[in-house]
Amino acid sequence: MPIATINPATGETLRTFDALTPEQLEHKLQRASDAFSRHRRTSIAQRAEKMRRAGELLDAEKEKWARLMTMEMGKTLAAARAEAEKCAWVCRHYADHAERMLAARPVDVGGTARGEVHFLPIGAVLAVMPWNFPFWQVFRFAAPGLMAGNVGLLKHASNVPQCALAIEEIFLRAGFEEGVFQALLIGSDAVAGILDDPRVAAATLTGSTPAGQSVAERAGRNLKKTVLELGGSDPFIVMPSADLDAAARTAARARCINNGQSCIAAKRFIVHAEVADAFAERFVAEMRRLRVGDPMADGTDVGPLATAAIRDEVAEQVRASVKAGARVLTGGEPMEGPGFFYPPTVLSEVPEDAPAYHEEVFGPVATIFRAAGIDEAIALANDSVFGLGSSVWTRDEDERRRFVDEIEAGMTYVNAMVASDPRLPFGGVKQSGYGRELGEFGIHEFVNIKSVWIEDGAPETLPDAE
Ligand code: NAP
Repeated sequence: MPIATINPATGETLRTFDALTPEQLEHKLQRASDAFSRHRRTSIAQRAEKMRRAGELLDAEKEKWARLMTMEMGKTLAAARAEAEKCAWVCRHYADHAERMLAARPVDVGGTARGEVHFLPIGAVLAVMPWNFPFWQVFRFAAPGLMAGNVGLLKHASNVPQCALAIEEIFLRAGFEEGVFQALLIGSDAVAGILDDPRVAAATLTGSTPAGQSVAERAGRNLKKTVLELGGSDPFIVMPSADLDAAARTAARARCINNGQSCIAAKRFIVHAEVADAFAERFVAEMRRLRVGDPMADGTDVGPLATAAIRDEVAEQVRASVKAGARVLTGGEPMEGPGFFYPPTVLSEVPEDAPAYHEEVFGPVATIFRAAGIDEAIALANDSVFGLGSSVWTRDEDERRRFVDEIEAGMTYVNAMVASDPRLPFGGVKQSGYGRELGEFGIHEFVNIKSVWIEDGAPETLPDAE
C-alpha cells in the first residue's frame, strides 16, 4: 500500500510519502532505546505534566486536528472534533491517575519481611494502528504507555501518514524528549523486522484479524507480549420490554458511527419476534433519515468510506449476500461520484451462508435477525467468531443478568450503545483479540509486574525455593 493521503470524499491524491530507508529506521530504533533509558527515570509527576500539555494542545488546536482526520479518512468533521476532545480526555485521565495505578502495592507476607508489587516500564512498544480512529487509537495506547515510562513506536495505517506525524508533533511540543514517541512511516512488510529487534519489547495492534495473527505469530516467536484489538461483529439485541424508539434511534447511530467503520459498531440486530416488525420499521426510517455527503459540511451524518478498496469490499459483501437470499430493506448499492460513498443499508432474512451473516462488514450495513426468545437471541449473538462488544435493550432484570453472563464478548452495554471510555477496560474475546486497553487494566498490560521481598529483620523461616 502506498503511504499517501487520498481524500476519500473526492478520490484525489493529496500527498505521498517515501517509506523510511533501513538506515533511517535503524536510527529511530536506536533513538527510542536511548530515550527509554532516560524516560524511565523521570517521575510520574514529570510525565503527567507533559501528558496534560498534550491534552491541552489537542483541545486548543482541535479544529486543525479534526480537519486533518477528515481529509485523510473521511469521518465527519463533527466526529473528528469529538475524537480530538476524547484524546485530550485520555491524556488527562492517565495524567491524573497513573500515579495511583502504578504505585507499589504492599502485600502481607507475615514475619519480619515486607512484600511489595511494583509496576515498572519495559521499553519500546511498537503500536500497529488502523486508520478508522486515526488519533484515538494511538492516544489510547500512548497515554498509558508513556505514563508508565515506556516509549512508543507508531506504525500507523498507510492512508493516514499526516495524522501519524501530527501525533508525534503533539508529544514533542508537549515536552516529551525526542525518541519517546516516534511515528515510523513504513509499510506493513517492515513490521516483522522490528518485532525481531531486541530493542523492541512488545507490540500492540489494532486492526483486522489477519494482521493480528501475523503480528502475534512473529512476536510469539520472539517471546514478546502482544495486545490485540481486532475485528468485531457486535450484536444489538432488542427485547419486548425495551423502549423501541430509543433503541431504533440508537441502533442507526450505533451502526453508522464513523461512516460505519467502527470495530464496536453494532452490526447484527437481533430482535425478539414480538417487536421485530415494529423495530424494523423504526430502524429503517432512522437509517433513511441519515444524510450522506461531504464530511466537511455541517449537517452530514455519514461521510465516505475511507478507501476505494473498502467501498468495493462492502459492495461485494452486500451483493453476494443478496444473491444468497438476503432482502434489502434500504440502500444496497454504492453511490455515484468520485468519492467512496456507500449509503446506510439494512438487510433482513440473511441466510447462514451469506457473507453478511459471518463476516465483519466495515461500512454502514446492518443485518436484522428475528429471535423467538432470549435463548435464541443469545445463541444468535454468540454464533460469531468475534466477541468484541454487545448492546442489549431490555428493562427486565433477569434478562439483563443472562445477557451479561452469557454473551461471549469483552463488553456488554445495557440500554446504551457500546463506546470506549478511558475509565473502563476495552477489548475482546475469541477472534476479536486479547488483552485490554484503557482503565487500570490497560496501563498494566505493558509493565513488568515485579515482586519485591524486603527482609528487615532476621528471617525465622525462609520461603520455599521455586
Ligand atoms: P488492517 O488492514 O489490519 O490494518 C491495520 C494496521 O495493520 C495498519 O497499520 C496496517 O498497515 C497494518 N497491517 C496490515 N497487515 C499487516 C501485517 N500482515 N503485518 C503487520 N501489519 C499489518 O485493518 P484496517 O482495515 O485498517 O482496519 C479495520 C479493521 O480494524 C477492522 O477489522 C476493525 O474491526 C478493526 N479495528 C479494531 C478495533 C478494536 O479496538 N478492536 C478498533 C478499530 C478497528 P497498512 O495500512 O500499511 O496496511
